[in-house]
Amino acid sequence: MSNEIRIISREDLPKWLDQMLGTFTVVAPTRQDDYTNFGVITSGNQADFDAVNTRMSPKQIFFPKTERLFGFATDRQQVKLDDTPQQITPQVLFGVRPCDARSIAMLDKVFDTDVYRDQQYVSRRKATTIVSLACKQLAPSCFCTRLGSNPADMAGSDLLIIELPEDRFAIGTLTPKGADLLTAADLPAQATAQDAQAFDKAVRIAQDTTVKPIDSDKLAAKLARIFDSAFWDRWHDRCLGCGTCTYLCPTCHCFDIADEAKNNTGQRVRNWDSCMFDLFTLHASGHNPRPSQRQHLRQRVMHKFSYTVDRYGQAFCVGCGRCVNRCPVNIDIREILDELEDYQGG
Ligand code: SF4
Ligand code: SF4
Repeated sequence: MSNEIRIISREDLPKWLDQMLGTFTVVAPTRQDDYTNFGVITSGNQADFDAVNTRMSPKQIFFPKTERLFGFATDRQQVKLDDTPQQITPQVLFGVRPCDARSIAMLDKVFDTDVYRDQQYVSRRKATTIVSLACKQLAPSCFCTRLGSNPADMAGSDLLIIELPEDRFAIGTLTPKGADLLTAADLPAQATAQDAQAFDKAVRIAQDTTVKPIDSDKLAAKLARIFDSAFWDRWHDRCLGCGTCTYLCPTCHCFDIADEAKNNTGQRVRNWDSCMFDLFTLHASGHNPRPSQRQHLRQRVMHKFSYTVDRYGQAFCVGCGRCVNRCPVNIDIREILDELEDYQGG
């Protein structure tokens, strides 16, 4: 539970963002035609506080779609590297929904471990304070509760904002980084005991769900058991292999590395990749260990609900619903989960 709680009115939220802009780059949901996406704002009024979910997830803020790792130049004698680290400035990621904040905590388990520490990712994470906004309504495609989460989940956030009645918001401090941001803010009021109770009550209401979460250990074990079963025979039938589901997913993190060179100079870049693409596992020999869409789709489900449970102790799906909303042929991960739970075949 949070240590300190402050209150802010809806009217003052943009002003608070304006204060931050003096010190930080601020990234927030902004309206673009009929959808919202995260973008750098130059005024607090540009932020959309009511968007249920952005089209793209915030993962690209830490793990960009394409990124230069280093430059190189060659001559006959040697290769010269230019691996000057990129300038990373302090930033605030504002208005993240709790499912997305939780996904960032999951990505930390991949990119920031004792065995592998991705310097660019870690530098961005260190420089970023995450301010989440609890959901007051769920979109029809949301299913965070099934993944053991809730609309006021605190995982991954430094501050959590919960809307209270009468256009007021309670800001709860979750980490020292969040406390620093709040201390620096010129906010009008300390919360009263009544406000603090309202914050705690809102969190309890969000946590009090009647949805039975999936048992991820049991599901992971079942998936391992049915790897070669007929369960996988039909889901892929209409899959186009477009990769939309993985690109929009906040937890998918596969990438490819390529050298782009002209004459004697070039750069090594890292680009998002997708297990749903034909080329993903194609070997230089021409052999492809996962040659069909059946295997691609199975890999996506196995990775999210079996391999990550074995490796990181949790399923790598936060129930954001992006893949449900945007799959061009309406393949719905929730239906796959339903059938998986009922599936009795071996
Ligand atoms: S698998 Fe779908 S619902 Fe789950 S986190 Fe990824 S995009 Fe969201
Ligand atoms: S978005 Fe749908 S069609 Fe595209 S790769 Fe994913 S499951 Fe297949």
